Amino acid sequence: MIPVQGVQNQTIAVLGLGRSGRATAAALREGGATVVAWDDSAETRAQAEAEGLPLLDLTRDTGWRDRIDALITSPGIPHLYPHPHPAIAQALRRGVPVDNDIGLFFRSFGALDWAGFDTAPRVICVTGSNGKSTTTALIHHILRAAGRPTQMGGNIGTGVLSLEPPVDGEVVVLELSSYQTDLARALTPDVAVFTNLSPDHMDRHGGFGGYFAAKRRLFAEGGPDRCVIGVDEDEGRYLANQMGQGPQDDRVIRVSVEDKLDGFGWSVSARKGYLSEWRKGRQIASMDLRGIRGLPGAHNHQNACAAYAACRSIGLAPRDIEAAFHSFAGLPHRSQTVAEINGVRWVNDSKATNVDSAEKALMAFENIRWIAGGMGKEGGIAALAPLFPRIRKAYLIGHSARDFALQLSDTPHEVVETMEAAVARASAESEPGDTVLLAPASASFDQYPNFEKRGEHFTALVEALRRG
Ligand code: ADP
Repeated sequence: MIPVQGVQNQTIAVLGLGRSGRATAAALREGGATVVAWDDSAETRAQAEAEGLPLLDLTRDTGWRDRIDALITSPGIPHLYPHPHPAIAQALRRGVPVDNDIGLFFRSFGALDWAGFDTAPRVICVTGSNGKSTTTALIHHILRAAGRPTQMGGNIGTGVLSLEPPVDGEVVVLELSSYQTDLARALTPDVAVFTNLSPDHMDRHGGFGGYFAAKRRLFAEGGPDRCVIGVDEDEGRYLANQMGQGPQDDRVIRVSVEDKLDGFGWSVSARKGYLSEWRKGRQIASMDLRGIRGLPGAHNHQNACAAYAACRSIGLAPRDIEAAFHSFAGLPHRSQTVAEINGVRWVNDSKATNVDSAEKALMAFENIRWIAGGMGKEGGIAALAPLFPRIRKAYLIGHSARDFALQLSDTPHEVVETMEAAVARASAESEPGDTVLLAPASASFDQYPNFEKRGEHFTALVEALRRG
C-alpha cells in the first residue's frame, strides 16, 4: 500500500466503495486522515461499514455540517457530465476539492523517501481510446523480461494506492482511463503514452472535445520528460505538436502505423508489419513484427510501437525489447491465441464487443472461421462487409445470429445458436492454415454475465478439443 501523504489530521470523504474506493480509504487512513464514506448502494454501504468504515450521507446538506477537506471519488461516478453526482455537486458548491486515487497517488509517490536510492523510481502512464491495457501490459512485460523492477496498475489490475512503495530504480506502469485523467488533481508521469483516439464515453465528457481534453490533461498538466504519441489521427498530431518545440524536438516520440515518419526528432513507426525507429534523420533500429504470436494485426503493431517507444525512452536496448515481444502471451480475450491444433489456430477476442474491435480482429487474420453474435449493436455487422471475403465461414450464436445471417448474405454462414455448437462445427470443418476466431461484434449479456466468461467458455471448449 502507498500511504497518502499530506492528509494528516484532515477529514477526507470517499465516494464509491467498490474495490478501489475501499483501497483508497485504507491508504488515506494509513496516511493519518479521518475517513468518512458513502456509496449509493445500501448493500455496498453495509459491507463497508462492517469493515469499519464510518458512513456519512454526502448527498445531503447534513452530511457536510462538519469540515470535510476533500472528496475522493471513483471513476464510475459522473463528476460533471451528464450531471455531477449529488455528493460531488455538494462538494463543488462548497468549494471542497474533488480528486481521485490517481491524484492522491501522484501526490504521495514522489513524496516518499528515496534518499537512499541510486535511481529514482519512474512512472509511465498509458492512455488512449483503444489498446491501453495491451500497451500497459506489454511495457510491464518488457521491463520484467529485461530484469527491471516494475509494477503495473491503475485501470488494469491493482488500484494505484494498493501498489507497493517503489524500490530503487523501479518503473511503475499505469493504465489510465479518460475518467481518471479528467479528474486527477495531480498528474506527473515521467513518460506519458497516448495510443489513439476514437469516439467513446461521449456522455461523460460532454462530447468528443471533452473526451480528448480529458486525455490531454495527462500531458498538459504534468509536463512529462517524454511523450509517446500516436499520430494517426488529427488529435494525436495536435497533441504532439503542442508538446514539442518543433519537429526535431525529441521530447516527443511520434508513433504511426500509417506513415514512415523519418523526418522527426524521434519516431517509431510500423508499416506492413516492420517496426522502425528513427532519430534525428537516422534509422536506429528495425524489426519484423509479423511473426509475433502475442501481437497480431496492425492494431497490435501500434501497441507494440508505443510500448517500444516508452521502453526506449527509459534506456532499454532494441534487441531486448524485440526478445520480449516474442515472449508476450497477449492479454486474455484480446486477439489471444489459445491453441494450435492440427495446423488450425484458435483465437479468443471475446473483448471485441462492437463492430470496431471486431474489424481490427478480422483484419489481423486470414482464412477465418468466424464465431460471432450475441447482443448485437445497432446496424449489426453491415460495416464489416468489406472484410467478408476474409471469412471462410461464419458460425453465428446468440440473440443476433439471424440478423447477422441476413447481413452476411452470400458469405458462407450457419446459425449454430451456442458456443458449444460453434466450436464443434468449426473444428469439424476447418483445415490446416485456418484461424478460428471468436470476435463476436456483440455484447455477451444474452448468454453470459460478461465478455470474460464468454471467452473463458470458448477457451475451455478449445482446451477440451486439444486434449481430444
Ligand atoms: P483498452 O484497454 O484501451 O480497452 P485493450 O488493449 O484492452 O484496450 O483492447 C481492447 C480491444 O480493442 C481489443 O479487443 C482489440 O480488438 C482492440 N484494440 C487493441 N489495441 C488496439 C489499437 N491500438 N487500436 C484499435 N483497436 C485496438
